[in-house]
Order: sequence, then C-alpha cells, then structure tokens
Amino acid sequence: MKLPLSLLNSTMPSGSGSLVWFRKGLRIHDNPALEYASRGSNYVYPLFVIDPHYMEPDPNAFSPGSTRAGINRIHFLLESLHDLDLNLKKLGSRLLVLKGEPSQVLIHCLKEWDVKKLCFEYDTDPYYQALDNRVKNYASTAGIEVFSPVSHTLFNPADIIEKNGGRPPLNYQSFLKLAGEPPWASSPLSVDLSSIPPVGDVGSCEILQVPTLKELGYVEKDQDEFTPFRGGESEALRRLRESLSDKEWVANFEKPKGDPSAYVKPATTVLSPYLKFGCLSSRYFYQCLKDVYKNVKRHTSPPVSLVGQLLWREFFYTVAFGTPNFDKMKGNKICKQIPWNVDDKLLAAWREARTGYPWIDAIMVQLRKWGWMHHLARHCVACFLTRGDLFVHWEKGRDVFERLLIDSDWAINNGNWLWLSCSSFFYQYNRIYSPTSFGRKYDPNGNYIRHFLPVLKDMPKEYIYEPWTAPLSVQTKAKCIIGRDYPKPVVSHDSASKECRRKMREAYALNQKLKGLVSEEDLKKLGSKLDEDEDEGQEPNPRRKRQKLIN
Ligand code: FAD
Repeated sequence: MKLPLSLLNSTMPSGSGSLVWFRKGLRIHDNPALEYASRGSNYVYPLFVIDPHYMEPDPNAFSPGSTRAGINRIHFLLESLHDLDLNLKKLGSRLLVLKGEPSQVLIHCLKEWDVKKLCFEYDTDPYYQALDNRVKNYASTAGIEVFSPVSHTLFNPADIIEKNGGRPPLNYQSFLKLAGEPPWASSPLSVDLSSIPPVGDVGSCEILQVPTLKELGYVEKDQDEFTPFRGGESEALRRLRESLSDKEWVANFEKPKGDPSAYVKPATTVLSPYLKFGCLSSRYFYQCLKDVYKNVKRHTSPPVSLVGQLLWREFFYTVAFGTPNFDKMKGNKICKQIPWNVDDKLLAAWREARTGYPWIDAIMVQLRKWGWMHHLARHCVACFLTRGDLFVHWEKGRDVFERLLIDSDWAINNGNWLWLSCSSFFYQYNRIYSPTSFGRKYDPNGNYIRHFLPVLKDMPKEYIYEPWTAPLSVQTKAKCIIGRDYPKPVVSHDSASKECRRKMREAYALNQKLKGLVSEEDLKKLGSKLDEDEDEGQEPNPRRKRQKLIN
C-alpha cells in the first residue's frame, strides 16, 4: 500500500506550497479551495485522511461497516476517492492518502511539508467545526494562511441567520424570502481546471494508495448486495447530464408526485449521495437547472421543483447550523419534548426489516442493501417507527439512517427526522402513513416488495401488503407461512396508530403548558378528546385545512 517513490515528485519544486485538505468536496469542478491552492503555488498537496473512527470495521455492528458508517457508504467513498485520484492525475497531480486522527495527521503534515496555504471547504457539521478549529488554531500560530470557502452549499448559513436577526428561519417560505438569489448565481463557476502544480516532497509521511475495502479489513461477502450507485465525480456528472437531458422532466418535476416504489428507474435524480460527498457541486447543479428553465416555456417552482429540492437542503443546513443541540430532543429549543418509548425489540424489528408489514420491511431492506430510498419511502418508515405505530424515539431511527444511508447528511437527516416525528417543522400528528394502503396506491401488484422481500414473491397481489390475512392454503401455495417464513405484524396498525395519536396529543398539550399557553383545565380536555383523522393513502378530508405533509 505504500506508494513507490517513483510516483512521488522526486524533483521537488521549491517555492510556495499549498495543501488542499479533501473531506467532502471530492471533485475538481467548482472547487474554490483547490483552485485557490493551485493559483500562484509551485506545488500542491491534495490530501485525504482516512479517519479510523469512521472507516474501521466494527464487528459488533448489526450490519457490515464501521460504527458510524455502513459498508455501502464506505465503498461509495472509496470509489469517489479513486475517481478523484484519477481526475487529479489527468491534471498532473494525484491524491495523497494518509491514515489517522485527521487533526493530528494534518498538523503533522503542516509541520513536515513546506506549506504556506492550507485550503479546505468550509463545513458546518459539528464534527468538522471542532476538527477544523483545532487545525486552524495550529495553522495560525505557525503563520500558515487558511482559506476555507463556502462551497458545499448554495448559501452561507451564517449569512441567512444574520439577515434574520441572529435566528435561523424556521419555515421554508421565510427561508426563501431571506435567501433570494445566491450571489454567485449569475457569474460562471470555475468548472474546468487545466492543470494543477505538482506534488511536493512528502518527507517521512507514509503515503498510501486509495485502499480497497479488503485493505480496510472488510470481508466483501458479508454484504449480500452492494448499492447499484457508483461513487465519484465522473459518475455524478454523468448522472447529472442524464437527468438534465430530459428537459420536460426537469421542467415538470413536482415532488411529492413521484412513485416511491420505482426502483428500476427511480422517480428522482438520485444525486443525493454525490451532493453529500461533494462529488457534485450543488452550485453547479443549481446553475444547470436554471439553464434548463431558461429554455422551456413553463417550469415548476419551489418547494416542489428540483431547484426547490436544493433549497430544502439549504433550509435544513441553515436551521441546523443555527440551532444548538439540533440533533437531540433534549436541549433543542425547536424540538417538542415527547415521552417516546424505549423499546429495543421494536427498534430491532424495524431496523432488521421484521415488522411484518411488507411495505415497511421492503423499504428497510432497500436501505440496508442500497443505502438509498425514495423520499416518500423514507417518510413511511420514519413515521411508522415514531408517531405512526411504534412510538420509538426519532433519535434511534436517525442513528440507523445516519449509518446506512449513502447520502447520510447530518443537517438533512436530523431535519427530516424532526419533521417526520412531528417534533419540529410539521405538526399534524393525526396524519399517519398507512403501512398497508400507501404503497398499494403506487404499486398495486407489489413488485417493489417482491424484489426486496423475495420470500413474498409468490404471494398473490390481494395479500401482498397484508400477508397475514391470506388463508393458510394461499400461504402454503406461495411457500410463505406467516409466523414462520415471514413475521406476523409486530403491532396492529389500527390500535397502535390510535394510541400514538393519543400520546402525541397529550405530549403536545404538555409542551403548550410548559410554554404557559394552555391552562390545566384545557389540558385535561385536550387529553381526553381523541380526535380522529384519516390515514395517508386514503382520500383526504376536504373540510380540514391541512399543513403540507411532504417537504
Ligand atoms: P431529488 O428529489 O432528486 O432532489 C435533489 C436534491 O435535493 C437531493 O439530492 C437532496 O440533496 C435535496 N433534497 C431533496 N429532498 C430533500 C429534503 N426533503 N430535505 C433536504 N434536501 C432535500 N437526504 C439526504 O441527502 N441525506 C439524508 O441523510 C437524508 N435523510 C432523510 C431522512 C428522512 C427521515 C427523510 C424523510 C428524508 C431524508 N433525506 C435525506 C431527504 C430526501 O429523502 C433525499 O434527499 C432524497 O430522497 C434524495 O434523493 P434524490 O437525490 O433523488 O432527490
């Protein structure tokens, strides 16, 4: 794994050197940190640090991967690094890979190498904020210039918060008003770099090649199926071009109208993992979408359009950045305090696709095997775990998503779990996704279920969403006996959802009381009145003014 010396630059150029620290932003296009490092430097060190905390196998985890990331995301990251290395080589450089605690490795490199400029993309995640501060403190004492531009997002969340008097906007419309058009949107982004100065002397540092999964200690056959989405900038740009080539589709894109059960050709772009790792620049994506809009007669608008989706991303980044303890219920001012159950058995059934509800279990299998599911599919399983059926804490579900999604993103994941559990942003807890009728609307034959849960592949379509209702003769013919080959439902949806609504009502009333908005008497009334509402998946009640369920 150690790099042969011949591949390193033996004729060391002298003069000013720059270090580009890659973490996300794994791309050449629209990469201001790389561009700045390349400008006026005699040599550039493109560095990626393998953080054992993130990459090392955890033998005790419930599925292959490290403690923090499932094997699919690690695989996707390695592919992205490999692609970055190839693209850097085309420009006369290469990726330097080192292993260790990132701030220690960085500081060691800064001491060892002749670096005048340290360049890395600004990151709002708490993990990186702490890490970056350590590295920046060292650099400033050592007299090294630090350049840390905002290029992961369209806006700098701090600017939006400042415009709003120091507080993050808590709804999408007020976010849009504050944000306006991004300042860079009308000028061309730097998409092509023609060359990068060569790599300088690496001293005693043990430079590695981008490792394989095996070299990191993983046994590939432990994972029964890998995600079909390949990591890297090249694939991101190919996928982007493919999506944009259908201008009508882009112009008419309207979420939530897509089909969550479409898995052969998903209903949305599947660009999220590329945006997560910065293989695709969100700013470039935004500009390309605006170009399409210029050339069509009509197009959809935020919140439902594709630009609107990118702005949801910005919205959650802004609120997350401006909210202390955003990823927790306790100490989080925008989060309702709800007495969620601690039930490890129910949590494990959900996580391991054993709830007995095929629609829910198929989605959870897709999560484990692919690390990506459609937005509405995520809605269904998040609602089921929390306020819909199992009443398990949203933080537990968040943890499972955080580990297994290939697009796992701190701000967006936490923001959506807060939304789906009716802990913040969205408050109509009476509106619950039915685990049996919602999926059926899109996929009456249950093809999605048959694909991800092959044990049910021969179940007649009448029973595929509720196989426990199939007569024993039908189960026998389908070679799937419920309770033996596939589990019985862990809860009855009718009674569990009723109970969840009651608990939510009480919790909401208590939250109001804590704010001093409801009297003791009102609280009693609220607690005893069980207000019914229809499930998602059935016809909406036109008399009731509804808050939008879908973000
Ligand atoms: P498209 O519909 O093609 O949208 C384009 C891009 O817009 C996406 O790639 C994404 O960057 C952004 N976007 C779309 N929807 C949202 C949204 N609701 N909130 C914020 N940004 C959005 N998305 C993540 O990227 N990472 C996560 O960890 C994540 N966790 C989620 C957890 C839950 C419980 C739920 C309900 C949703 C979560 N999402 C997350 C949001 C959303 O489901 C995905 O971004 C989307 O499904 C990705 O598919 P796509 O790229 O085809 O999206």
